[in-house]
Amino acid sequence: MNEKQYFYHIITFGCQMNKNDSARMESILKSMNLKPTAEPEDADIIIMNSCSVRETAERRVYGKSRIFAELKKKKPNLIVCVTGCMPGRDKDGKLEKRLHDVDLYFPTRDMVMLPKWLSEINPELRSIDLEDDYLTVVPRTKNKSQAFVTIQTGCNHFCTYCVVPHARGTEGNRSLKSILDEVKELVSKGCLEITLLGQIVNHYIAPDPEFFSSNNPYQKNDFAKLLWEINQMDGVERIHWTAPHPVYMDDEVIDALTLPKQINFIHLPVQSGNSEILKKMNRRHDRDFYVDVIKKIRAKKPEIAIGTDIIVGFSGETEEKFQDTVDLFRECDFDISYNAQYSQRSGTVAAKAFTDNIPKEEKKRRWFVLQHLMESIAYKKNQEYIRREVSVLVDTYKNGTCGGNSSEMKRVNFPGKEDYLGTIVPIRINRAAEWILWGDMV
Ligand code: SF4
Repeated sequence: MNEKQYFYHIITFGCQMNKNDSARMESILKSMNLKPTAEPEDADIIIMNSCSVRETAERRVYGKSRIFAELKKKKPNLIVCVTGCMPGRDKDGKLEKRLHDVDLYFPTRDMVMLPKWLSEINPELRSIDLEDDYLTVVPRTKNKSQAFVTIQTGCNHFCTYCVVPHARGTEGNRSLKSILDEVKELVSKGCLEITLLGQIVNHYIAPDPEFFSSNNPYQKNDFAKLLWEINQMDGVERIHWTAPHPVYMDDEVIDALTLPKQINFIHLPVQSGNSEILKKMNRRHDRDFYVDVIKKIRAKKPEIAIGTDIIVGFSGETEEKFQDTVDLFRECDFDISYNAQYSQRSGTVAAKAFTDNIPKEEKKRRWFVLQHLMESIAYKKNQEYIRREVSVLVDTYKNGTCGGNSSEMKRVNFPGKEDYLGTIVPIRINRAAEWILWGDMV
């Protein structure tokens, strides 16, 4: 007798870390003999991997749960699960109460229990044994040339606006050996670009430092040491990491930016250009400290592209304080910035201690000011790429056009062949707009 084929559908909200966790769940479900489906209506199991960073992200999960509750009326055996940051931070169960007819509600680390729980609900689903640590589950990815490797979970910093320490717990660092083994495995399967993930990636502390090579040139910072180790591996062509914290950008990490396989880009969140707001945010650095770090980075690697994160409209951000952020943006000459309008998150220190006193309209206006500034700087900076050669890791092909990211994380399109997918090619840029460069193969 043929076994019934069961299908799953995963919806991922939020950051790269969540995407990586969803890829792990895909791997688990695949081991249980389940197949993916693009349509939730065709699925037997729907998993929403939630994000709590903004209220809008949580509202989308509530909305989807209502839709899936309706779907369950037609498909009573449908299993709906919610994981990620919402269950992680929901200590009093208030968020769960707002969801409609969800069968499994669990924090990310409990994904290793999925096979057991799913097979308890539907005994036709095969349970499998997994190790307790979810980071040992190898993520399932379609793109073989690029991979994300989580080196750390959680965060100890408790920036006053941030839910991450509440949702993902305090910092936990993965064993150096398991990171190096995972990278080796990925490279053996053709991976060219490794992106190391952590909430404060440059605060990585190896629990098993004995696995560092004796000739590693770095002495103090385990993250710089890790970068050097991965640089030594044959087959790795590009190393990228996100997100570092300014206070751990010490001399060794800045020096590691010059290692040969390090991409020519760094994303260094600043959040505000005003020292009083930074203090209120508990960022543990002031404006001058951040600007100094940027200067040191540019002194070491003058051509590097730099990105950041900024929050506008944090509690007490006057027009004058906002202008400090605008000035800092100009001074640091960022290539890209992920700008967000402050949204108060329950459970955070900011929600308890400060009033959210900047009107929505004003937050929006400030956001547009920064967006326009970013676009004008990005356009100007991108013109400097014309006639320059960049290396592009090709990840898309359609109708004779290839696309991919340069080492500066600029999106580049050029006429090419499907065969170039998953390879790194040299491209000379001949045209540039804010968010895209065009060129021809050299
Ligand atoms: S450093 Fe701050 S913003 Fe980043 S994850 Fe930790 S608490 Fe959140």
